[in-house]
Amino acid sequence: MNKRNYYEVLGVERNASAEEVKKAYRQMALKHHPDRNAGDKQAEERFKEAAEAYSVLADPEKRSTYDRFGAEGLRGEGFQGFNSTVFEDFEDILGNFFGFNFGFGDLFGAGSRPRRQPAQRGRDLALEIEISLEEAAAGVEKEISLHRAEACPTCRGTRVRPGTQKETCSSCGGRGQIRHQQGFFTVSRPCSRCHGSGEVIPAPCDDCRGTGHARQKRDLKIRIPAGVDEGSRLRIAGEGEAGVSGAEPGDLYTVIRVRKHEFFDREEHHLTCEIAISFAQAALGVTVEIPTFDGGEKLKIPAGTQAGQVFRIRGKGLKELDSRRLGDLFVRVQVRTPDDLPKDQKALLRQLAGMRSETLEFLDQEHVRKASVPRNEGRR
Ligand SMILES: [Zn+2]
Ligand SMILES: [Zn+2]
Repeated sequence: MNKRNYYEVLGVERNASAEEVKKAYRQMALKHHPDRNAGDKQAEERFKEAAEAYSVLADPEKRSTYDRFGAEGLRGEGFQGFNSTVFEDFEDILGNFFGFNFGFGDLFGAGSRPRRQPAQRGRDLALEIEISLEEAAAGVEKEISLHRAEACPTCRGTRVRPGTQKETCSSCGGRGQIRHQQGFFTVSRPCSRCHGSGEVIPAPCDDCRGTGHARQKRDLKIRIPAGVDEGSRLRIAGEGEAGVSGAEPGDLYTVIRVRKHEFFDREEHHLTCEIAISFAQAALGVTVEIPTFDGGEKLKIPAGTQAGQVFRIRGKGLKELDSRRLGDLFVRVQVRTPDDLPKDQKALLRQLAGMRSETLEFLDQEHVRKASVPRNEGRR
């Protein structure tokens, strides 16, 4: 699903203050509130959309992740879009605003209500890796280190003090749900004592205070394939944070930053560069060695080459990611005009100009027009 930009959803500027975000959200929530738009599916969607946008933009950490990586980055941080964890703040802000509390369980279905799943997958992590253009061209293995939650070594992630055990929750009899009679309906809600897991821990592990997690510094080797570009994202499965009570770990997302190269620029999988030759070399032709990543490439500049002309060397660009195709290298030629001519060389040039009937005094309009270079010299 292609999501709208959170700033657009709330109708605020990218640099909006926390107060402006809150105000915009209140207005959207009031406008699209289901009580005022009974049965209007679109209003309900807008209402949820605004809540999701607010839950991100009201949280400085999430907002900065979103600004840098977009919605995908938030998934990398374990953010799942509109979910029940935003409700507390959400009920607060709306409850105060409307002057009453209403049950979100009714609005979004009781299923969205549990705050803690019995087995929760670990959070995804995101990090940036900066590489050079050469490394992007050839692929590279990078060593990185990160801090992440891993299974607590004392309780091995079980959250239970060694030698003790989990017990069945007495409030719900281990079902994790409590049933209520509500008019004609029977509604199930997650048990508040065990948070829906059906189990309680009478003696939590002391080392992790019952979370099952311990923060560890980890060094990882990350293989970056040839052809990655600025902003490329790589997913490394299972290298995120540990899950709760043995649930599977999250993934690690890396965002590639490619440093600017001093000689080459990149256009997708093509490389471009600029070289300078003298007037004589341009007029008479010369062979130039271009410093490509795989050693060097000889380029023959033919006699009569004009300034700005572009030459294409096929297959000397970058490899396309996940393919065998290679981009090309485009070399733009500039003609360097000497600005340090001694007298005798000036005399020679004057002589040459004379032989070619070139004036050094005044160039009239007619001649300017004739001598002008066509605007679009195409690539050859
Ligand atoms: Zn522990
Ligand atoms: Zn229970």
